[in-house]
Amino acid sequence: MPAPDLASYDRFVVAFSGGKDSIACLLTLLDSGVSPSRIDCYHHDVDGAGPGFMDWPCTTAYCRAVTKALDVPLYLSWREGGFLREMLRDGTPTAPIRFQTPEGLLQQVGGTGQPGTRLRFPQVTANLNQRWCSAYLKIDCMAVLIRAQDRFLGRRTLILTGERAEESAARAHYATFEPDRTDTRDGTRKRRHVDHWRPVHALAERAVWEMMQRHGIVPAPAYRLGWSRLSCIACIFGGNDQWATIRHIAPERFEEIADYEDRFDRTIHRTMAVRARADRGRPYVAAIEQPGLARAAMRSTWADPVRVPPARLATTGRCLRSQPRPELTGRSSSRHLSHQRRIAAMRSGTSYTVTRERDGSYRLHCCLPPVPRIVAVIAPVRDRANQVLGWKLKPLVVMHGARNRLWNAPDEAITATKLMTPGQAKAAVRAAELAAGPTP
Ligand code: SF4
Repeated sequence: MPAPDLASYDRFVVAFSGGKDSIACLLTLLDSGVSPSRIDCYHHDVDGAGPGFMDWPCTTAYCRAVTKALDVPLYLSWREGGFLREMLRDGTPTAPIRFQTPEGLLQQVGGTGQPGTRLRFPQVTANLNQRWCSAYLKIDCMAVLIRAQDRFLGRRTLILTGERAEESAARAHYATFEPDRTDTRDGTRKRRHVDHWRPVHALAERAVWEMMQRHGIVPAPAYRLGWSRLSCIACIFGGNDQWATIRHIAPERFEEIADYEDRFDRTIHRTMAVRARADRGRPYVAAIEQPGLARAAMRSTWADPVRVPPARLATTGRCLRSQPRPELTGRSSSRHLSHQRRIAAMRSGTSYTVTRERDGSYRLHCCLPPVPRIVAVIAPVRDRANQVLGWKLKPLVVMHGARNRLWNAPDEAITATKLMTPGQAKAAVRAAELAAGPTP
């Protein structure tokens, strides 16, 4: 699908969430030579400019900082009362939508529809009637702000959104370019020509991260804390690890959501409450190790730089999430790997072996000649009471498949390296424990 002729449009409206894909939409326009004066970024505030409930408190401030750094105006739009008010609707109409305009006005539309009742969270489905948050808190906001502003009448407008085919089967079917739902080019009364372009639809995640890096854009804190997307912090699509991380960094927020599940007697996930899901998950290592960043992400202000020289950012998306660098400790150098252990490893059918260190961590050693060496450190992550929350894997060489998460046991982390089978990893850990003696 060829790109639309950008020179033929009068205005460009970017749905700007602050996530990497929406930033890539904006950068695509700027890279194509579109003047910032012809661009409006609209951020749909999921929590309705009210107290935080589902979304990251810092997101609006981060969006302001990025658009300011790129010299593009940012406007907000929201459904009054946001997610919480819509969810708690009980025999009342859906709330009006408000949006800011370039003239500095705050306009309001709707709020007088049919009464209705929700009293439940959106459901995890592609159906937007049941997953009502996307429709009511984002899609409707964009449609209303286009229809309600006469400045779009008699002109050609291009709306840009950041869905990518790679994200889901449903998104793969989205058209890259089509007339927008607000288009009335063939109407008889109010005519507006509005097209909808998804410029990153065909891009791989890596290409989007590279675009961010080229422009030196520091990713939103959510990515650096382990989230794969800048969605709501408590997005209904979150997995067990994500719920465990929310409980770790924002316990009050977590409990508020869990209490609503109890009250509605319906959970977000069809079969499991968020408390049970958090119990089954493990907090992201990046969130545990960066409590300062987690606290900053839960504030509604943002003071850190959002644009830096590109060389300061790592070259791949995963690295942009500021993974802590593993460090070697002197004591467990490969010189300590005994000849007998190497022989034992070879006999057990693997080229790797494991040692346990005095600090309670494990080392995964490659025994292959000519240079035996440590290839990974498996370290315990502890809470304030010094209880082990899980085990993190710190690769010291490139390891595809090693992921930024906590593992229940050291052998699970070792298995994640794909250098040992689960059985080999279990046996190697057991052997390391026997050799090292009682746990320190
Ligand atoms: S990010 Fe998740 S919870 Fe938030 S509006 Fe989108 S689908 Fe709903």
